[in-house]
Amino acid sequence: MIKTKAYAAQSATTPLAPFDIERRRPRADDVQIEILWCGVCHSDLHTARNEWKNTMYPSVPGHEIVGRVVAVGPQVGSFKVGDLAAVGCLIDSCGHCASCREGLENYCDNGWVGTYNGPSTGGENTYGGYSQTIVVKESFVLRIRHDAAQLAAVAPLLCAGITTYSPLRHWGAGPGKTVGIVGLGGLGHMGVKIARAMGAEVVLFTSSPGKVDDGLRLGAHRVCVSSDGNRMAQFAGKLDLIVDTVAASHSLDALLALLARDGTLVLVGAPENPHPSPSPFSLIFRRRQLAGSLIGGVPETQEMLDFCAEHRIVSDIETIPMDYINTAYERMLRSDVKYRFVIDMSSLR
Ligand SMILES: [Zn+2]
Ligand SMILES: [Zn+2]
Repeated sequence: MIKTKAYAAQSATTPLAPFDIERRRPRADDVQIEILWCGVCHSDLHTARNEWKNTMYPSVPGHEIVGRVVAVGPQVGSFKVGDLAAVGCLIDSCGHCASCREGLENYCDNGWVGTYNGPSTGGENTYGGYSQTIVVKESFVLRIRHDAAQLAAVAPLLCAGITTYSPLRHWGAGPGKTVGIVGLGGLGHMGVKIARAMGAEVVLFTSSPGKVDDGLRLGAHRVCVSSDGNRMAQFAGKLDLIVDTVAASHSLDALLALLARDGTLVLVGAPENPHPSPSPFSLIFRRRQLAGSLIGGVPETQEMLDFCAEHRIVSDIETIPMDYINTAYERMLRSDVKYRFVIDMSSLR
């Protein structure tokens, strides 16, 4: 086994602190990555504090992992020592169900294995990216085509990027489509950048008047402050697709009213408490659809990384040392980050 320094929560109420874990020696088809940067996702905090009631302790969060390959098993063909590589939210799945065969491992019928907190159906715990090194099957390791200098800002693409890219792609964001992004946080700021690069007309909806200028800077064509009823009314029936990134319980009727006929509202935020059910009339009129989307499969995550490299898209980040993580969580809860914390893992050595 490989002794590895990490940061873990030992219970829902204890802060994260140094903790040694063990990684397996690379098997024939494994890639070992020295972790250079790890993004801080809201799911990390939800998991560390057991807010989804499924946390196994000790919990080592982190699923926005970028680094350098330091060892490969003898059957590994597409990575060699020294390559840049990334790991996102999944590290395994059944491999044979209909979803896995389509490269949609994130919807595996038999339960995929999260990079941290173990298989989605229960089972042995897994430890994430708040650590020095990780060993992952080659088929779940991603290639990075961005410049090495951008590496820290690439990390959040592995969760925030794919979570917004996948629904934008699935529901056809592009030229001639008007796309709404709701919420300007870690997910929302990636949604704005990606939807813009796909060629859509982008409208950002935010509850914060202070984020209007940033929304425009990040690529939104227009920004609507959602508490302004007159401004919201101007967009009624105008949007083809809305990606709602807000991770707090809220009314969906006001958003459904913005959709054109056959438009779709996609939920990607995971609130601690569910949203109140929308009025059926919000859906029946104009044949609107309410949908959800969960991260993305391995092929689509690679496609997203390549798309972002081609369009020079990275996340807006603030880099932090590992021992700042508990303060970073408190600041995240106050939305006091533009727009993602990324941990410099060299601070753990
Ligand atoms: Zn995440
Ligand atoms: Zn499967």
